[in-house]
Amino acid sequence: MEVSRLQPCIPLHLSKEELERVVDKAKDWALMHGISMRSKVSFNKNQVEVLPFTLLPSSFPRKNFEKVKNIQILLNELMHKVAHNNSFLIKSLKSTTDADPFTAKLFSIYETIYKEGFSQTLSLGLLRSDYMLHKNQIKQVELNTIASSFGGIVGVTTQYHKHILSELGHADKIKNIPENNPINGLCEGLIHAWKLYNNTKAVILFVVENITYNICDQRFHEFEISKINPDIKVIRRSLKDLVLEAKLGPNKQLIVEDLEVSVVYFRSGYEVEAYPTEQEWAVRLLIERSQAIKCPSIQYHLAGTKKIQQSLAYTDALSLFLKDDNTIKQIQEVFAGLYSLEFNNDAETIIDKAISDSKKYVLKPQREGGGNNVYNEDIKLHLESMRNSVERTAWILMDRFYPPVQKNYIIRAYNEPFEDNHFQFSDVVTELGVYGVIIGDHDNIIYNKEVGHILRTKSSNENEGGIVAGIGAIDTPYLI
Ligand code: ADP
Ligand code: MG
Ligand code: MG
Repeated sequence: MEVSRLQPCIPLHLSKEELERVVDKAKDWALMHGISMRSKVSFNKNQVEVLPFTLLPSSFPRKNFEKVKNIQILLNELMHKVAHNNSFLIKSLKSTTDADPFTAKLFSIYETIYKEGFSQTLSLGLLRSDYMLHKNQIKQVELNTIASSFGGIVGVTTQYHKHILSELGHADKIKNIPENNPINGLCEGLIHAWKLYNNTKAVILFVVENITYNICDQRFHEFEISKINPDIKVIRRSLKDLVLEAKLGPNKQLIVEDLEVSVVYFRSGYEVEAYPTEQEWAVRLLIERSQAIKCPSIQYHLAGTKKIQQSLAYTDALSLFLKDDNTIKQIQEVFAGLYSLEFNNDAETIIDKAISDSKKYVLKPQREGGGNNVYNEDIKLHLESMRNSVERTAWILMDRFYPPVQKNYIIRAYNEPFEDNHFQFSDVVTELGVYGVIIGDHDNIIYNKEVGHILRTKSSNENEGGIVAGIGAIDTPYLI
């Protein structure tokens, strides 16, 4: 596969000694400002280590950057409308829920609430639409509606990359780093929902993992809320804690330890591991039944599945939700080829193609959080083994992107497995994310904003690049 190359933001000719000094200082800057997480290797609540980050900002074409920043509010609107279209959700997810127990569980919560009637009609979405460059175009990888992460850390990372450019004698280039402060926009969204709930005593509940590694990102949200409005109290609980502590009040208020909850912000609950027993599922249902405003509500959660993304890429699907042809065209331009594996002739054709030319596709299940997709030769193995089984309808195929490569240094807390002291110099590729905030109910959208961006970078020979998993690194676009 022919891939193009982008030039780095500055010439890279530092001596080894200079580089080591610069990296040392960069690590200290990162630790002091919270570009950090708890260690997966030696977990200790009293310590954090640097989150993988790039020494320099990575080059990114301005034209493509602006294009996707500009369509975010259209995507927010689209996701909102999809989430509120019962027949589209049922039709798109039917075959998947037959084959995938996890999606089926989420869907059954949705059906229960739909039948009972929603005690809270408003939803809050803190979304992140992710993109890669491919053949001079920008294409959507996915759109996250739950636990869209790193909004807290990227604002600081943007400041770091401005700092490093001046540190290295290139202050004149700082102008090519666009402003970025998603944490403020995301927390303004949480606070707007809190206001709509209209009870100044009610708290915001963060639903978190039993052990949180990405603690700094989550705490940045909590501290920003208190910076904007010191009267709002934030509490953190895992689903496991909530099994014991959560109950419904007489008007379906969500009560946690005698505190009424206004807004539930899920930073966990998208992963199978969050539901080890039926009790965690029961508490998720209880939360959805409550009057609290959920971020995301169960219908927003479902709207973020890969299967819905694939259904939206079908011809004419968008015209169900958006009336303006120009809007539809702008959104369709960023969609890649996405293919259903339901039982029909089109699917048989695409399966044949993916088996014989697997490098052109990615095979994706209905999962979030990275590390779940299938690539290269494994696509052939997977497709062949499930071709005649209903299991295949839980998956989708997607055209694979090959973004342009460029050189950068990835800095990590650990040396292993890299030879260089604590950084790796390599060909990298980037993935841009754009954050959006939306609030509304079935009939109205009352808040809709684009609030910032993130760049995530990985070595070009990695298939996936989870940052907390230690493969990807947090980065900043340097517009060219
Ligand atoms: P998740 O919800 O688990 O993050 P994604 O769809 O974002 O799922 O896939 C995870 C990662 O896999 C992405 O961050 C990207 O690195 C890689 N990836 C996903 N889709 C593609 C694609 N079409 N082409 C190339 N890489 C992809
Ligand atoms: Mg995702
Ligand atoms: Mg992703």
